[in-house]
Amino acid sequence: MKVLIASPEVFPFIKTGGLADVTGALPKALKRLGVDVRVILPKHKGIDEQKFPLRYKNYKISCPISLGYVDAEIVESEYDGITTYLVEQDDYYNRDYLYSTPDGDYQDNAVRFIFFSKSILETIKITGYIPDILHCNDWETALAPVFLRTLYRDEPELKDIATLFTIHNLGYQGIFWHHDMHLLNIGWEYFTPDYLEFFGNINFLKGGIVFSDIINTVSKQYSQEIQTSEYGYGLDGVLRARKNDLYGIINGIDYEDWSPEKDNFLPANYSIEKLENKVVCKKALLKEFGLPYNSERPVIATISRLADQKGFDLIAAAMDEMFSLGAQYIILGTGDRKYHELFTDLSKKYDGVFGVKIAYDNRLAHIIEAGADMFLMPSRYEPCGLNQLYSLKYGTVPIVRGVGGLEDTIIDYTNNPKQGTGFKFYGYTKEEMLDTVKRAMTVYKDKTEWQSLVKRCMQEDFSWERSAREYIELYNKAIAKHRTI
Ligand code: ADP
Repeated sequence: MKVLIASPEVFPFIKTGGLADVTGALPKALKRLGVDVRVILPKHKGIDEQKFPLRYKNYKISCPISLGYVDAEIVESEYDGITTYLVEQDDYYNRDYLYSTPDGDYQDNAVRFIFFSKSILETIKITGYIPDILHCNDWETALAPVFLRTLYRDEPELKDIATLFTIHNLGYQGIFWHHDMHLLNIGWEYFTPDYLEFFGNINFLKGGIVFSDIINTVSKQYSQEIQTSEYGYGLDGVLRARKNDLYGIINGIDYEDWSPEKDNFLPANYSIEKLENKVVCKKALLKEFGLPYNSERPVIATISRLADQKGFDLIAAAMDEMFSLGAQYIILGTGDRKYHELFTDLSKKYDGVFGVKIAYDNRLAHIIEAGADMFLMPSRYEPCGLNQLYSLKYGTVPIVRGVGGLEDTIIDYTNNPKQGTGFKFYGYTKEEMLDTVKRAMTVYKDKTEWQSLVKRCMQEDFSWERSAREYIELYNKAIAKHRTI
């Protein structure tokens, strides 16, 4: 089976969030299962050419954009033996950020990702790597399945390619004004509610949902939630219409990168058998943030994009009480400017108990996962969530709101003390969150009980192999479905 995975970001080349982790790790797991898999992404400025040598093979492409053509070169590289195609189009991708600056989205995101979606199909043609499956991810690649069935439908090399479209976050849909239709080079007959039109605008993600053979999201719970008006972001009706082709597969995590036994970023490695070194990591973490160590005080942490989705309004509102309970709290994140300012101010107010770093810092993320006692994720919605899975592996007990992947992956301790792997709440309120933090802190005081909870967390297994097998099943479904069209 041949699979081409298209994504706007892929770890280890470049990463802003969980999407990169997934589209980097899944190919490796598929390869181990015998799939011939390749990856394609834009050649962003942040990609380190020293680390990932580029091979120029004279793969020059040209994509129609409105009345003209835009050129690019497809450059080959690789990571962990996975052949990767980088779309070199410097006007679009040679930029400091991937999608947006702290002040907002790039103004030309429509054409940047219309072009990327077309370039995927041109890459298939010019390289001769004809996949059985084109696996697209999120709105930035969602138009590739649309173009396969419209602009490129008469290309003989492309006609047997089946498509899987994975929604990693329905909150980001790629919505642009209708004046951008000419950039797609497909007719206005596709600007209707059955296809790309969405309240007078063009919706790229909707295109992916309507035109792909099979669709999935990154947890079963989220695949159900998005069919409701509460979580559907206006697309619940479109998703319900395709419910027979809509699946949920939980993300795995890459234990090569995320295991306390062999994590090179840590001041001391630890394991279930040698847990005493976790406290070495806790001390190092507190030192990084200039906070005092006290064995009676749990360190609660959050690592995240600073976005409304992640529940930071609850956290900010709950700080007074959280600190009076005796917790210390650490945030690592970047994102919306309003949260940069809010948390920087709050760190002055709560000096000595609250540490914040406004940055994207992978090394520090590893140290936090190891050094913290608890990991707080009060998300409004969470398609899968990766940090609770890293936290489990590092024995850092998750406190989560039971939505999406958080609901699927964490078992509440209070309801199920023998099997619990964290603490869960459901209502999106400060009170419910605080009550749950309180429950966790009560168990924390009982050192024996806490240690057995930590060890149970560390035994959980969310490796990619199982999820990759489920993806292969979906690929087969997509191939079968495509044959019937
Ligand atoms: P999302 O994809 O919605 O951002 P996920 O939990 O699925 O959330 O994945 C987030 C990923 O990005 C995790 O690997 C997390 O550790 C990482 N991450 C987020 N913010 C930062 C940051 N400021 N520094 C380092 N890593 C970060």
